[in-house]
Order: sequence, then structure tokens, then C-alpha cells
Amino acid sequence: MKVLVINCGSSSLKYQLIDSETEQVLAKGLCERIGIDGCLTHKPTGKDKVEMNADMPNHTAAVSLVLQQLTDAKNGVIASLDEIGAVGHRIVHGGEKFAASTVLTEEVCKEIEKCNDLAPLHNPANLIGINACKELMPNVPMVGVFDTAFHQTMPDVSYLYGIPYEYYEKYAVRRYGFHGTSHSFVSKRVAEIMGKKPEDLKTIVCHLGNGASICAVQNGKSVDTSMGFTPLEGLVMGTRSGDLDPAVLEYVAKKENLNISEVLQVLNKKSGVQGLSQVSSDFRDLHAEADKGNKKAEVAVEVFVHRVVKYIGAYAAVMNGVDVIAFTAGIGENDALIREMVLNHMGYLGVKFDAEKNKFAGEERIVSTDDSKVVAMVVPTNEELAIARETVALV
Ligand code: AMP
Repeated sequence: MKVLVINCGSSSLKYQLIDSETEQVLAKGLCERIGIDGCLTHKPTGKDKVEMNADMPNHTAAVSLVLQQLTDAKNGVIASLDEIGAVGHRIVHGGEKFAASTVLTEEVCKEIEKCNDLAPLHNPANLIGINACKELMPNVPMVGVFDTAFHQTMPDVSYLYGIPYEYYEKYAVRRYGFHGTSHSFVSKRVAEIMGKKPEDLKTIVCHLGNGASICAVQNGKSVDTSMGFTPLEGLVMGTRSGDLDPAVLEYVAKKENLNISEVLQVLNKKSGVQGLSQVSSDFRDLHAEADKGNKKAEVAVEVFVHRVVKYIGAYAAVMNGVDVIAFTAGIGENDALIREMVLNHMGYLGVKFDAEKNKFAGEERIVSTDDSKVVAMVVPTNEELAIARETVALV
């Protein structure tokens, strides 16, 4: 079956058409500046990339353009839309309602809408994408895959904040966790590589990208994760602060004459390694600057690593041990130096790091020695493939 995977943002839409039998990507692309002017990048596998400015007043127009490109005589990869057997939609927040992927019926969409409050920037955009696809492909089954669903197995000790319980009861204020599709995909792959059942493994997955989170996976289930009520909690990220004393909000608000939303904007968009280094959120730039002697860039990298090291230690404690530490996403897959800096702290857990094996980027590989008690490895994530697999399983 051919599955169209859609990841819809407020003004962008990423897509991949995947053949579920071969698991090959047939085409992928991105619509940007939806509602502004419109720009499409379309890459059919084995053919030239297409870039075009095209009017996209709304998401329906963007989806329509994508479908037109997929079936285009020159740039297309399928003869007709009938070849698309299902559509899988990435949905950011499923609240406590969705602990698994689900077929998108009218009732389900209404329930997703109820979660809009929890992810006001993302969920409404996801729903717009779903509606646009339903309008243009009314008979094709659609599935929603939630970023939060994998973490719904967290016990209350992990998901409750130490605040009045009524806030949880009345407003559903709790830790949800994100990147669930990636943590699930990587932890399953770890079990395959280890030749073990997920139930027999304690794995710590480090999803280190521009957004970054760590997940403790025991018995194949998420038991704790570093992102919380929103994706702002946890690690120091590209532009997000991660954990900080909430009292900082009021203090900075007063000093800088900002309101709460404006301070949160700073914590989401102008903080993290970008804010610390005042250079870049990209680790390639940070390493280059640090090599030139830029102290702030060097410290930003060290703060990032320190937080990762703390969370790995915390999750080894939570699970009373760890068998595998897995790295994934842009930094985890490509940045050998960050892996080395993190794993050099892990001797106390029984990790024997192999610096030679670690010198590579973007592949699935073990980076610990053969006699290491804890296995350290890199597993490239593939959220689109994970969504396609979930979609096929449900339709
Ligand atoms: P992601 O959000 O998973 O796409 O990750 C994006 C981030 O990965 C970028 O902002 C970089 O910091 C980092 N990254 C990507 N490629 C490399 C590389 N070759 N070396 C170091 N960092 C990289």
C-alpha cells in the first residue's frame, strides 16, 4: 500500500509518500509560507528536485498542489490518486485521551480538537491538515499518530508535577512528553539489534535534535521522559531553555518589562544553545566557533552535554539500571563529539566507550566496546516511516 504521511504546521506542510511493502520513500517535500504566498519543494525519488512559488492561500490549496505533483506526468510518482491507500497524520498532542494511534473518524477529530488548548500552536494546524486531506480524498482512510501517545504509559510518579492536585484534575496540568513516535521507533529497533524482546530491555533513548528529549523505556514502555506539559521542559535545546526555576519568569518579566507570553517566547525561541552562545542553534556552527576560541559557544555545548548526562543518570536510577543508551536525531546521529562527551561520563554505569567506532555520522552502529556492560549505539530515527507503519496497521 502507498501511504501519504502528512506533518502539518501553522504555515507549513511536510509530506512523504511511502510504499509500505518496500518501506521506500517514493517522494517527499515541503510546502512553506502557506497563507502568505506559498513555496513548494518536491523531491520525487530518482528524479530532479522541483522548487516552485505557487499560490497557497490555505492548507487545502497546499494539499491540492502536493497531490497534483505526486500525479504529475513529469514530476509524479503515481498514475492516479487511487493509488494512495491511506494517509497518516502526525498530531502533536493527544492529551490523556489517546494512548495509541487511531483512525480519524468525526468523533476522534472532535476529541483532538478538545486537546487544542494543550497545544495551541500545533493541534489546530494538524486538524486543518486533516480536514484539507478529507476534503480532497474523502474516501481514503486517515490515521492520527500522536507525539504524546507513547508516553501515556508513564506512571503517575513520573507525570505528576509537585503542584496542587486540583490543577491536574481541573486543567489536566501534568507531564505528557513528546517525540513519542521517535522514542518508540528507536527503542523497538534497539531491541531488534540486541536480538531481545523489548520486555527484556532497559533502554535510554536520547533524541538530540533542534528539539531534544530523553526517554526511559522499560519493558518496551515509556516510564519517564524529559519533556513535560509542553516541549519546553527538560534538556537545553537549540533555542529552548529546558528546565529552569519558574521564579525566573517573574524576575525576568519585571526586569525586561515583558509579560508572561513574551518571556515564554524568549524561553522557546531565543534560549538554549542559541541564547547561551549568542551565535547559533546549530551544533556545526557551535563547534566551529568553539574551535576558533569562542568561549560562549564552548560553554553552550558543555551545558547541553551536562544536561544530557544528568538525565541519563536520572533515568538509569529510575529504571534501576540500563542495558542500552541509544542516540538519535540530527545531533545524536551526526555529532560524534557530542556522543563522545556524553559517553565519557558513563563509565560509572559500565559503559566502555570506543572512540574509534564512534567516528562516523548518520548510520546505525554500536559505539561501545564488545565487552561493555551497557551497549551504546546510534539508531537513525524515521518518524515518517513509523507513522506509515502505524497507519497500515490500523487500516
Ligand atoms: P533535527 O532537529 O533532528 O533535524 O536536528 C537538527 C540539528 O542537528 C541541527 O540544528 C544541528 O545542530 C544538528 N546537526 C545536524 N547535522 C549535524 C552534523 N553533521 N554535525 C553536527 N550536528 C549536526
